[in-house]
Amino acid sequence: LLRIRGLRKQYGSRPVLRSIDLDVAEHQVVCLIGGSGSGKSTLLRCVDLLEVVDDGTVHLGDSELTDPRLDPDVARRRIGIVFQAYNLFPHLSVLDNITLAPRQVHGVPRKQAEARALELLDRLGLADKAREHPDRLSGGQQQRAAIARALATEPELLLFDEITSALDPELVGEVLDVVADLKQRGLTILMATHEMDFARHVADRVCFLEDGVIVEQGTAEQVLTAPREAATRRFLARAL
Ligand code: ATP
Ligand code: MG
Repeated sequence: LLRIRGLRKQYGSRPVLRSIDLDVAEHQVVCLIGGSGSGKSTLLRCVDLLEVVDDGTVHLGDSELTDPRLDPDVARRRIGIVFQAYNLFPHLSVLDNITLAPRQVHGVPRKQAEARALELLDRLGLADKAREHPDRLSGGQQQRAAIARALATEPELLLFDEITSALDPELVGEVLDVVADLKQRGLTILMATHEMDFARHVADRVCFLEDGVIVEQGTAEQVLTAPREAATRRFLARAL
C-alpha cells in the first residue's frame, strides 16, 4: 500500500533521511524503532507531506504523493496521523474534534458524522466522553480520542508517532490495546515506537533507523530477537 523509494531529506546542510526504502503492505503494522534524532518523526512527516522531500518517491496505492502536481491536502485526506501529544483541539468537545474533518473536509452531514463518531468512541471505550472537553480526559483517553479522530475520515493508512511516550506507564497499555485491535480489524499502520514488547507482539515488520539510515528491517522476530547488525544489537541492549 505504501512504497517509499530513495527518500532523502535534509535540514539545511544536515541530512536527516538518507535514501530510505520502505514498504508497508495492506493490513500490516510496521514499527519504526531507533534512538532519538534517528529520523523516525521526519520520515512519518514526509509520508504525510508535512515536509517537502528533497529526493525520492512516496506512493500510496497507485498515486505518487511526492508528485509536485498533486495537491497535498487531497493526498493527506487518505492518511490519518496521531502525534505524541496535543492532538485534540482544546476548545472543542471530543465529539466535535472527531466530526470536524469529516464534516468540513469530506462534506459528511452532521448527523451521519456524529453517528459514526459515537460508534468509534464506543469501540474505543469512550462512549461516555463524547461531550467532554479534552482537558477532562486522562492522557490515555485523550490519545484514544485522537485515534478516533484519525479514524473518522476512514483513512487508508494510519501514521502514529510515539503515541504512548507522553503517557504515564499505567496508561500505555490501553492505547496499545487499541492499536492491536485496529490491526485485527485490518487497518494499515506505520508507527514510531519505543515499546519493544508491543513491536515484538504486534508488528508484522520492524525497521531500525540510525542517523537517517534504515540499518536493518525484517519481521519483528528477526529484527528484535535475532538482529543481524551490531548497531541494532547495541540499540536493543540499551532499549530493554
Ligand atoms: P525522537 O525519538 O526523539 O522523536 P526522531 O527519530 O523522531 O527522534 P526526528 O525528529 O525525525 O528524530 O529528527 C531527526 C533529526 O532531524 C534530528 O537531528 C533533529 O534535530 C532534526 N530535525 C527535526 N526537525 C527539524 C527541523 N524542523 N529543523 C531542523 N532540524 C530538524
Ligand atoms: Mg520523533
